[in-house]
Amino acid sequence: MAGLPEKARVVVIGAGIVGNSMAWHLARLGWRDIVLLEKGTLPSPGGSTGHASNFIYLTDHSKEMTAFTVESVRQYKELGVIIEPGGIEVARTPERMQELTRRITSSKSWGIDGVELISKERVKELVPFINDDIILGGFYTPGVAVVDSLEAGTLMRRKAQELGALTVAAGVEVTGLDVENGHIKRVRTDQGDIEAETVVIACGVWSPRIARMAGASIPLTPAVHQMIDIGPIPIFEHTTSEVSFPIVRDVDTNMYERQHGTGFEIGSYAHRAILMEADDIPSIEASALSPTMLPFTQEDFDPQLEDALELFPDLVGDEKAGVKLAINGLLSLTPDGNPIIGETPEVKGLWSAAAIWIKEAPGVAKTVAEWMTNGEPEIDPHGSDIARFYDHHKTKQHIDARTSEGFNKTYGIVHPMEQWASIRGVRLSPFYEREKELGA
Ligand SMILES: Cc1cc2nc3c(=O)[nH]c(=O)nc-3n(C[C@H](O)[C@H](O)[C@H](O)COP(=O)(O)OP(=O)(O)OC[C@H]3O[C@@H](n4cnc5c(N)ncnc54)[C@H](O)[C@@H]3O)c2cc1C
Repeated sequence: MAGLPEKARVVVIGAGIVGNSMAWHLARLGWRDIVLLEKGTLPSPGGSTGHASNFIYLTDHSKEMTAFTVESVRQYKELGVIIEPGGIEVARTPERMQELTRRITSSKSWGIDGVELISKERVKELVPFINDDIILGGFYTPGVAVVDSLEAGTLMRRKAQELGALTVAAGVEVTGLDVENGHIKRVRTDQGDIEAETVVIACGVWSPRIARMAGASIPLTPAVHQMIDIGPIPIFEHTTSEVSFPIVRDVDTNMYERQHGTGFEIGSYAHRAILMEADDIPSIEASALSPTMLPFTQEDFDPQLEDALELFPDLVGDEKAGVKLAINGLLSLTPDGNPIIGETPEVKGLWSAAAIWIKEAPGVAKTVAEWMTNGEPEIDPHGSDIARFYDHHKTKQHIDARTSEGFNKTYGIVHPMEQWASIRGVRLSPFYEREKELGA
């Protein structure tokens, strides 16, 4: 691209939902000479944002994550890119019904209104094509939403450009980051260099690779999340809107299902953890669909298809409904499941905005932008602070072990004080052996 500026006040790398939100919030808070670099083409450059299912469940047991999500929904509403079909987490077991009561408690504690435990008959009323013989009830949130994340990104870039604050450079790949005296100094690209004292890495699954260019660490791993889209489904033929039925999370099987138009998306967190290295993600040119849509591994999905068939026999079992899309989509997993945000401890002026989902992206970006501007964001981000990681947390061994363990707990029933089972015994207190001898 012609005319990359030689200098910038801040460079944001990556124009997925996170980079676009960062550019907008920095502009809103008064930053100027912002440059947004993206190696792909806009509006859908080939990252995870382009193939997300785009739904937003509001409640998390973490107050911080719920606050990010609630704030994001507020912003998506302001942008006019959201619909609220509602959502139901269904229970197949008594243990899950118990967990759903805890989710009611968290919702009420964090200010999510309108949630209720509902009978299986009520689930059936809301989702007539569900098999209610195998469920006990559900947790209904009327405010569960679906957004257009690509349109949201486009609107946020436009708003920042209208303020005269933002230069967008698509088709430009960052190839290096220069650091001087522990401070970020320059962004190198395949089309020239940009001097900048502040840089934000918003590169999703590529973030560890970009951080390494500056000698910093963003300890996440790209991981596969399988999703298929089947249809056209005959019973959806007469649905008038894009999403007319509540989104269902079949949490006991670690899956979700949602109608969109005449199609039906089925996503799974139940398959084996399939991790990869950021350096091994294929280039745009080498990708059949996009770099983050890898070829589907059917054998990993087969057991989940059985679960989906059991819950939605009329839809999934309909032989006329073909598979429209089946992907091994890439998303970011972190050792404790939280985002990774804040100034990197290794390099001053280099910020991370990574491992963030669409449901929380605008809220997290607002938080990071406030942190960069005032040193103190409105939402307390301590559970997502990049500085929480010690050196032993940043090893590949640790990241792979914890993310592999955590992946199948995405919809798990997890006690707040639950201990990790993997990669124990790395750091031991001087009393450890003695305590073991005593059976403590
Ligand atoms: C199948 C699937 C379904 C999902 N569904 C949902 C959902 O329903 N709800 C939800 O909340 N989340 C969902 N997610 C997660 C969500 O898609 C991601 O968490 C989110 O899109 C990440 O956004 P991002 O901006 O961080 O990353 P991305 O969208 O990946 O953007 C990063 C950008 O950085 C650019 N980049 C990388 N390297 C460079 C470089 N060297 N130079 C310049 N640019 C570079 C990339 O091209 C890319 O555009 C889903 C994920 C998957 C896989």
